[in-house]
Amino acid sequence: MEPKKAVHPGSFDPITNGHLDIVHRGLCVFDKVIIAIGHNPLKNDLFTTEEKLAMIRESVGDNPRIEVDSFEGLLVDYVQKVDACGILRGLRVISDFEMELQLALMNRRLYDEVETFFLMTDFNNLFVSSTIIKTTAAAGGSVEGLVPEAVLIKLKEKFPHMKV
Ligand code: ADP
Repeated sequence: MEPKKAVHPGSFDPITNGHLDIVHRGLCVFDKVIIAIGHNPLKNDLFTTEEKLAMIRESVGDNPRIEVDSFEGLLVDYVQKVDACGILRGLRVISDFEMELQLALMNRRLYDEVETFFLMTDFNNLFVSSTIIKTTAAAGGSVEGLVPEAVLIKLKEKFPHMKV
């Protein structure tokens, strides 16, 4: 039987423990999860795609069931290219739901053969977003315990006055 693959797409600017939580939960259902960094031309990112790839690769370690990649253009085209059957997204709070529903329905309209799966994050990650991590770090606050070690190191490089 073909391995069941899911793509976990996002900006990952930077990856947080919330994203990693969703990836590991996804592995209970799928044989393989591909963490795929999408390029959103409308977003002004702190990290380059190369920096994001390096941080994610270091954070997931040597797990043969997790792949790390990046893509340009439509997510559904990428999903078909890697032969995945699912898109994995995380839900934190009710406010995520509206945007996630729009995205899932648009992706279905673009490509009917892929399903979007939503998983609930751990209670501890409910308030964690890449934006709040960057904002806190830029203002000098500690984000220890909310992001993997590789991200902490990179944030410290960008914001040397950040507490660790
Ligand atoms: P985007 O910029 O497309 O929202 P993100 O990288 O912020 O991409 O998020 C990618 C996915 O990870 C989304 O499904 C988002 O809901 C989920 N996610 C982000 N932060 C968390 C978290 N703390 N817990 C669970 N899921 C999360």
